[in-house]
Order: sequence, then C-alpha cells, then structure tokens
Amino acid sequence: MGNKQEKNKFNGFVTVRGAREHNLKNVDLDIPRDAFVVFTGVSGSGKSSLAFGTLFGEAQRRYLESVSPYARRLFNQMSVPEVDKIDGLPPAIALQQQRGTASTRSSVGSVTTLSNLLRMLYSRAGDYPPGQNIIYAEAFSPNTPEGACTECHGLGKVYEISEESMVPDDTLTIRQKAVAAWPSAWQGQNQRDILTTLGYDIDAPWKDLPKKARDWILFTEETPTVPVYAGYNREEVQRFIKNKRQPDYMGTFTGVRRYVRHTFANTQSQLMKKRVSKYMLSSECPLCHGKRLRRESLSVKFAGYDIADIARIPLALLQTVFEPFATLVPNADHPEKAIVTQRIAADFLGRLNVALDLGLGYLTLERSTPTLSPGELQRLRLATQVHSNLFGVVYVLDEPSAGLHPADTAALLRTMDKLKASGNSLFIVEHEIDVIRHADWIVDVGPAAGEKGGHVLYSGLPDGLKNVKESLTRRYLYEPKTYADLQPRILKGKLILEGIIRNNLNNLDVEIPLGILTTVTGVSGSGKSSLVSQVLVELVAGQLGLKMDFNEDDANMLEKDDIKTLGGQIIGGLQGIKRLVVVDQKPIGRTPRSNLATYTGLFEHVRKLFANTKTAKERKYDAGRFSFNVVKGRCPHCEGEGFVMVELLFLPSVYTPCPTCSGTRYNPKTLEVKYKDLNISDVLNLTVDAAVVFFDEAPQISRALEVVREVGLGYLRLGQPATELSGGEAQRIKLATELQRAQHGNTLYILDEPTTGLHASDVERLMAQLNHLVDEGNTVVIVEHDMDVIAQSDWIIDIGPGAGEEGGRIVIQGTPEKIVSHRKSKTAYYLKKHMG
Ligand code: ADP
Ligand code: ADP
Ligand code: ZN
Ligand code: ZN
Repeated sequence: MGNKQEKNKFNGFVTVRGAREHNLKNVDLDIPRDAFVVFTGVSGSGKSSLAFGTLFGEAQRRYLESVSPYARRLFNQMSVPEVDKIDGLPPAIALQQQRGTASTRSSVGSVTTLSNLLRMLYSRAGDYPPGQNIIYAEAFSPNTPEGACTECHGLGKVYEISEESMVPDDTLTIRQKAVAAWPSAWQGQNQRDILTTLGYDIDAPWKDLPKKARDWILFTEETPTVPVYAGYNREEVQRFIKNKRQPDYMGTFTGVRRYVRHTFANTQSQLMKKRVSKYMLSSECPLCHGKRLRRESLSVKFAGYDIADIARIPLALLQTVFEPFATLVPNADHPEKAIVTQRIAADFLGRLNVALDLGLGYLTLERSTPTLSPGELQRLRLATQVHSNLFGVVYVLDEPSAGLHPADTAALLRTMDKLKASGNSLFIVEHEIDVIRHADWIVDVGPAAGEKGGHVLYSGLPDGLKNVKESLTRRYLYEPKTYADLQPRILKGKLILEGIIRNNLNNLDVEIPLGILTTVTGVSGSGKSSLVSQVLVELVAGQLGLKMDFNEDDANMLEKDDIKTLGGQIIGGLQGIKRLVVVDQKPIGRTPRSNLATYTGLFEHVRKLFANTKTAKERKYDAGRFSFNVVKGRCPHCEGEGFVMVELLFLPSVYTPCPTCSGTRYNPKTLEVKYKDLNISDVLNLTVDAAVVFFDEAPQISRALEVVREVGLGYLRLGQPATELSGGEAQRIKLATELQRAQHGNTLYILDEPTTGLHASDVERLMAQLNHLVDEGNTVVIVEHDMDVIAQSDWIIDIGPGAGEEGGRIVIQGTPEKIVSHRKSKTAYYLKKHMG
C-alpha cells in the first residue's frame, strides 16, 4: 500500500502519527483529502475512536482553540485526543448518530431550516385577508409570544384538571390517598399533615367531605403556611395549637391542581412530568384546533394553505405545491411580491429535493425529531449540509446507511458524492457492503474488538484489501456466502392481527408466524416499525396484561405517547405467547452508574463473593459494602460515580475522573478487600474476556459472562459506564441478559434493526443467538434491512411498496425462496442479488 502512483490520485493527505485514543495501538496512517473514505472493522475494533475520537476530536479542539484563549483554558480540562501529531487536517463537521436521547425539542422543519424559509415566505409573500397588515416572520412560529395561540399558548392542546382526574376513587379517605395526584412519599404526607392542622377530616371518605372542603383542597390558589405536628390527629393538633406547643416544622400547603400544573410546567424530571400528566385530561385546543398559532397568523395563506397545513403535508407532496411558484410569474400589482415568491420557492425546492433524494419524502415538517429514528435524523442533517455550500470541510459520519433499505442507499451515495464534488472530504464509519464498495479509500481497523483491535490492518485503495489475510472485512467483501442448504423452519401457529390503523397502516390485517424467525422488510418509511415496534408490541403487551413499563431514561416519552394505535386487535393465536421481550437500542442507563455488570445482574454475585472473603468477614462487611450505590463502601466525594461532572460555560458539561478516589469509585477501606488478587474496583476494570478466566471458580458469574462474550462483547469492561456504550452494544447487552435467563419457550422477541453498528462477522454471531432462541421454542420477529439476515430467516413479511402514503400494505410474504421470485418487491430484487 501507499505507493507513489496510488497517492498521486489525491489532493493531499491527512497524516496521523501515534494515535492512541481508547484501544488504538499507537497507529500511523495517511488518509486522502477530498475523497470518500470508509472506516471498516468489527464493532469495538476502534473505527469510531479513530474517525470521531481522534480526527474529529482534534479538528474540533483546533477550531475552538482558534476561537479564543478562553476556550483554550476550558479545553485544558477536557479530554484531548491521544495522538502525537496530525497534519493536513481540514475543519470537520460530525454527523454522528445520537447515542441516547435527543436533548432539545425540534422538528423536521427546524432541523432542515425549511420552517424559517416558510415563515419568511408567509410574512412577505403570503395572501393576507383584505385589511390585515403584514405580520413579521416570527409571528408564524408557535414558539414566540407574537405567534402563539392565545388560548393554548402554542401547545395546540388544552389541559383540564378536574375532580375526577385528581381523585379517581372517591370512596377512599385522604389518609388512604384519595388524592392520587399528590406525591406518594414525604411530600404527600406533609400535605396530609397540613390539612389536619387546617381542620380537615382526613379519615372521612372523600365523597363525604363537604363540597366546599373538596373544592378548596383541589382548586385553591392560596398557599397558607401553618404549624405541622406530624403524625397526630385533628383533636390533638388543635390542643397543641391552643397550648402553643412547639410544632415540628412550618409547612406550606399547595392545592392539588396548582401542584399538578406547577410540576408539569417546571419539573426537570421526565418521570415526574409523566406522573402528573396522568391527572390532566388533554384535548385539542378549541381556538386553533391544534395548529398552535393565533388567528391572524393562520389567516395568511400560500397556495391556499395556512402555514400549519403546509407543515402537515408530506415533503414529497410539497414539491408539487411549490413547483409552480419556482418560476417567475410577473405580477403587475405587486412586482416585488412576485420576485420574493419566486426566490424563496426556488430555494425551498432546492433544499427539499435533497431530502427527497435521501428517501425522506414521507416525512412532514411538523414531525418532531424525537419520533424519528437516529438514521432519519442523520440524513436530514446531511441534507441540510448539502445545501450549505461549504467546501474544504471533512464530514465525519457514523453509519449513514442505518435504517436504509438497499434501494435507498443508492440515493444516499449520490448525495455524499455531491458533497465530495464540491470539494469536501467524507470520513465514514460503515458496515454496509454497498457503501464500502463505493469507497475511494478504505481504512480497515482490527483485527478484533477492544484490546484485540486498535491496529490499522489496511489503509489504501479498495482493491488492496483483498490481500490482507487478517481482515474480517475482506472475507465479506470478496468471498460471497451461499445460502443453498438453508432449511426454513415450519411455523407452529400464528398470531392473527386485524384492522390495524396507525401512522400509514390503514386497516391492515396481518398474520405473524409463531415458533420461527420472521423478518419484516421494506423501504424506509414503509411502515415496518409502525407494525412491529408499535402496534405488535402494544397489542401483545395489552393482551398479556403487561404494563408497558415506561422507561425513565426516555426523555421524550411524552412526545411519543401522543400517538396511539387507533385500531386493530389480536383475534387469534395468543395462546402461543406467554412473554414479550423487546430488545431495543435504547441505552441501558443514562449515567455512569449503570453498566454491564449491574444491568445483567452479575455484579450481585460478585459482591457476594467479596463479602465472603476472609477480610470482609472479619470486618463484618456485607455485600452492600461493595456496591458503589451504597454510602458505607463508596467514595464520599463522587458518591460512587468515579467521575465528577464539570460544568462548562457555553459547552456541554463533561465528566472527569474523581480526584478523591482516582476514579475507583470506592473508599480506601473497601478497596483493601481482595478476592484472589484484585479489589472490587479492579474487577470492574476487567474486560469480559479476562473476567471469564478470573471467575472460573464461580460458575454463576462465569456462565453469565460467557453469554455476554457469545454476543460479541467480550471486549467491554465490566464497569464500562452505560454512557460510553453504543446503541448496538446496549442492545446486545439486553439480549445477553435475556439469554442467560432460564428458557421456558413461548416468548415473543421483538428486535428493531439489530444489525445497526454490527460488522458482518458480528451479524453471524447475532444470528446464532437468535436461532438458539427459536430452537428453544420461542418466536423472533425482526425489522431488518440486512440482506444476510433476511436470507437466513424462515419467513419474510415485506411491507410497502413505497414509503408513507405509498406504503403500509403487505407486498408479499413467504420463505426467502418464494420471495426472490417476486417481481414488484424492491426487497425481492436485492435479496435475489444477494443470494446469488
Ligand atoms: P468501533 O467504532 O469500531 O465499534 P470504538 O472506537 O467505539 O469501536 O471502540 C473501540 C474500543 O474503545 C472499545 O473497546 C470500546 O469499548 C472503547 N471505547 C469506546 N468509547 C470509549 C470511551 N468513551 N471511553 C473508554 N473506552 C471507550
Ligand atoms: P419504517 O419502519 O418502515 O421505516 P415507519 O413505521 O417508521 O416506517 O413509518 C411509516 C410511516 O409512518 C411514515 O410515513 C412515517 O413518517 C410515519 N410515522 C412513523 N412514526 C411516526 C410517529 N411517531 N409520528 C408520526 N408519524 C409517524
Ligand atoms: Zn390554541
Ligand atoms: Zn470518587
């Protein structure tokens, strides 16, 4: 590699010397500029550490350093990439898929900046009713005081808080928690004690209280502060007050409605918000009918639509709406308006077309980003970049093909080629074979994951990879697989769903085979997730009487809850399912406190092992002593996190290792206890691979670890914080946790795109695990684009044929063998190509 002739093809190189970020083994490499460069390797090999951690990290550090000395000072506290030297590095923009959750509330319109353009258009070129003055662009945004509907303040919904919603069971007394909306812990007790002081009977059934008392407790805006004598009854308290006895403390009463409203509006905790929202009955705002804008703003029209209507039209149809305006139509009365209309419409269409090219035509401008998949969001941001006319920039992307059907990937490649043609470089971390084949240059990292990775196996023109024996990527690129001897399993029954109405599914009937492995396929936006991750999950959970446990970590659940299954039921086959397990890519926790060891439950066994050592017994340390969540054993400074958060002005806060315990999480006394030759903190630093050997005398632990290793995560450290794990890693930890449970069969497993972030060789391991689950008598349903997975499944349900309104139907279903002979299905075309 690296001969002169090869290198002459490119306009210069970025040279990296001595890169050691995370697992990188002091690597040197040269990467061409103005080229399409793909970073490959098994997951955990170090691709992201190189592309994001090192190259993007360094570009960002330089940029911020150049901005101000102040920023430089901040950066002394932030981590600087571990690398000796990088030359020739242009400024970089990262389009990384979010790990975890979106932080701010935004929409397709705001991410693409199309909403700004629309507001300008409506303000300056809209059709106003006679006599109405022109209004400013801001007045077309529900997030400004000028624009927000006066009734609902721009929410589109009004909330009613009634006696019925706050007190669901009026036969209970206040002491029995009749007021369900109140907090249950100390705060609720406090409110009850205050009512006692105020002379209310908290032991009478709610319905027997006088109306005046009920109304005051629920609806008063007064907040009296009174003496509290905790735990005494009404008569006793009256006596104490008369005798001027010293109260336990002074307490302030808050009416229930006031409490609910205040908590809903102000709490930082999504869990609290969710809790109190149950006591608010929401309905569409009667004034704006959910359009969130005030009347004057809604009275301005363009092409016959108000601005809220426009935001609800799929992008593909907007193209038709705007096209007639993109050419200049002279207007004798308003020549200026005609020009403005043409300019803005043309700009709008230009931006729109990029999004359409990327297969996003089924989205609407009003769609909120938390409801988008990470892949959709990344492509939207990519579309925005294409139109920004930057050049000389490196775009660093993280698996842009995620969530894309092969039919959509071709368009993605065209878009990225445009960025390259304008003089930019693309550094792409990717597993998808079609994207790798499109590369001008390949950097293959490996050979394996974690400690066993971190070497650059190859950096050069794609063809040269053929000769790199160690590379797992080479095998998948150049040695096609055969599927000839696959025998699809026979289904054991079916779950029959009828009349499904949700998103773009309109009265769909579908049968899900039981006891086999089914993949649900289709172009992106065709309705796969709506069917599987939304409807199937909800209906089965509902029928099994499972409460869908809502996840405190999901900051956007309120948003997601807005949409419910509107129609559909299970009419048969449910007797074949006893349990439902959804294995998704949501984080296993959002703070460094959760990790692989705690999530899988194996840490409990480890702590018991430590409590059983001689030293621990002598000192009477129990298993709790070895938990970093319990005061007695942990470091008092970081409270067992091992990290402290440093708040930075203008920048996201960063975690740095705790100075007291040097990141060990425990206090010195706890660390004196050793099992074999390691203390509890050392154990958390072991990789899974190393821990299997270390715990060979503790079968319960080593067996659990073995399963984690089987799903390809042997390289993770036991205590690696949840915040450092990718979505794919989180998903595989969940799968491993599931696999180590005793198997009883009859479980329905649902996975949405489990191959995201997985190298072809990791996909093989995943399939082995899933097949194992099916062989134990379970059912597996997967939403997937990966042709290797589709080819190996027992049954395929192909949804489509197109996206959005053009999808939502079953195009074809059957065994892979049957599907490939179908003419109309896009999946069939690519499957046939893949299976050869
Ligand atoms: P890839 O992108 O190839 O999947 P990564 O670069 O994400 O691999 O990871 C390479 C190694 O670095 C893995 O062992 C991973 O666990 C580790 N790693 C990743 N992120 C961090 C981090 N923030 N801190 C410490 N180790 C990390
Ligand atoms: P796929 O999983 O095949 O990519 P989806 O089921 O996500 O497709 O989407 C199908 C259609 O439903 C699309 O038009 C999409 O915009 C719409 N849709 C999906 N989720 C939501 C949601 N939470 N809110 C509104 N529309 C949605
Ligand atoms: Zn309103
Ligand atoms: Zn500490």
